Amino acid sequence: MNNSSAGEDGVKKSSLNFIEQIIDKEIKEGKHGGRVHTRFPPEPNGYLHIGHAKSICLNFGLAEKFNGLCNLRFDDTNPVKEDVEYVESIQEDIKWLGFDWGNRLYYASDYFDQLFEWAVKLIKEGKAYVDDQSAEEISAQRGTPSKPGDESPYRNRSIEENLDLFMRMKNGEFEDGTRVLRAKIDMDSPNMQLRDPAMYRIKHAHHHRTGDKWCIYPMYDFAHGQSDYIERITNSVCTLEFEVHRPLYDWYLDQIIDTEYRPLQTEFARLNLTYTVMSKRKLLELVEGNYVNGWDDPRMPTISGFRRRGYTPESIRNFAERIGVAKRDNIIDVALLEHSVREDLNKKANRVMAVLDPLKVVITNYPEGQLEDCEGIMNPEDENSEKRTIPFGREIYIERSDFMEDAPKKFFRLAPGREVRLKYAYFIKCEEVIKDEVGNIIELHCTYDKNTKSGSGNVTRKVKGTIHWVECSTAIEAETRLYDRLFTAENPDSPGGEQAKDGNFKDNLNPDSLKTITAFVEPSMKDAQPMDKVQFERTGYFCVDKDSSAEKLVFNRTVALRDSWAKKMRKSLR
Ligand code: ATP
Ligand code: MG
Repeated sequence: MNNSSAGEDGVKKSSLNFIEQIIDKEIKEGKHGGRVHTRFPPEPNGYLHIGHAKSICLNFGLAEKFNGLCNLRFDDTNPVKEDVEYVESIQEDIKWLGFDWGNRLYYASDYFDQLFEWAVKLIKEGKAYVDDQSAEEISAQRGTPSKPGDESPYRNRSIEENLDLFMRMKNGEFEDGTRVLRAKIDMDSPNMQLRDPAMYRIKHAHHHRTGDKWCIYPMYDFAHGQSDYIERITNSVCTLEFEVHRPLYDWYLDQIIDTEYRPLQTEFARLNLTYTVMSKRKLLELVEGNYVNGWDDPRMPTISGFRRRGYTPESIRNFAERIGVAKRDNIIDVALLEHSVREDLNKKANRVMAVLDPLKVVITNYPEGQLEDCEGIMNPEDENSEKRTIPFGREIYIERSDFMEDAPKKFFRLAPGREVRLKYAYFIKCEEVIKDEVGNIIELHCTYDKNTKSGSGNVTRKVKGTIHWVECSTAIEAETRLYDRLFTAENPDSPGGEQAKDGNFKDNLNPDSLKTITAFVEPSMKDAQPMDKVQFERTGYFCVDKDSSAEKLVFNRTVALRDSWAKKMRKSLR
């Protein structure tokens, strides 16, 4: 990894980001004996999205950079929402991004016994109590940041009674929601997190790892900091919303341990992208409501969706590196992510010709039944690129948009009486436009100049335009899924700005986010395999979908060629 990050202008600055600076300083001071240990702590309640990818790149990246280690830990404290399907997909996604947790795969549920013991210790020291009130009653007593909360009527129970009730909670004597264990901290604290937060709740639910052993589960806040402590994490990197939880994590650790060592929590701004919703809850809503075809629908901002769409791990890692680490919330232009994808695919993807919206062209002076080979280059970005063979014949398809009947002067493609170059083949001239009875153009009759074959060395004339094409009899028909943004609003959660915050994000779904067409693809693609990535020349980057087979090729459009980010950058440099 290099240590450059970029500001909004996309200009690379070679410097340590603020988290790296903190770690660098700690190492110089000899803190933790120079050891660096981070972790990525997902809750297995959904598939990972691009925001998680940012956090993964950051945590694993810090470990790589400082010769440290990074754990994968599932924060699985809420069995009702969690599932092994998610546990598995998360591991697959992290590996695909190119990171390795070695043998350090952990679960917060591994620590349930220890956490329970710590809870008992707090009760015994008079620092925790069982509250018999409902969640609503407790919440009504919390107060506001400027108004102190009210103490619970159960706050001053005896230690014996608290211990007895907590054991009975554990033994399954009480219904869900009838009691909670709360820390006894300070109902007047200006930090709401410290107003006697819940530590344990009752949930008669099966856990994907601990089965039916427990019917009480620790709150995330009572598990997270301790899990970091148990794993000897040196740097707990998390997103800004946890800043206000930090004093609580510290309070818990102060009560239960007496070592010097503490993980240092540092917060950074979560990644937000334009035209994207990022919360797992909302993504789950899209999946369950069949607004998309599953978590890996290529329109989803999930890692699995991007993978299926044809994004590469490198493009996501480069993007994460480019946007750097911010201390304040901001929204990144999704065009920058798409730019990173193009940049990587430009180097890697072989070129092929495919026509998405075909218009038939008959080359009237070309012999009937004859086919000849033209030579194309696989990848002009690769010096050692191999060549490919493309058949040419009397009937070809060109893109409907490459022809105009009443063309303005500056239209450099095909028009009546005008000449254009067919990429890797000949110049053709449009002689006649054939229409059906209602006037739709159905075919063009052209002539070719046999002295203009590409690569032959005899071409003496010039034409302004070059277009792509495929030969009709050998072209493969392929189902092609043209994806567009899933949302029409730049901020789908709040299309009218902050004031419209409660608008339903689903109102901003793009009805045209998927258009399925049949494209005609050059025959070199006949053995294409799922996940293969290509550039359809002049059109965009495409990848072979997992639904594709030898009988029926299926392509996903990864991203169009037009790069709005690069354009914006060029403009801003002018
Ligand atoms: P969401 O709110 O989208 O459901 P989450 O924060 O609840 O996400 P977790 O599984 O708890 O998801 O997150 C695992 C890690 O990923 C956490 O450290 C969290 O801070 C980080 N993370 C989640 N979303 C983002 C984001 N948009 N940008 C950066 N990091 C994120
Ligand atoms: Mg969460």
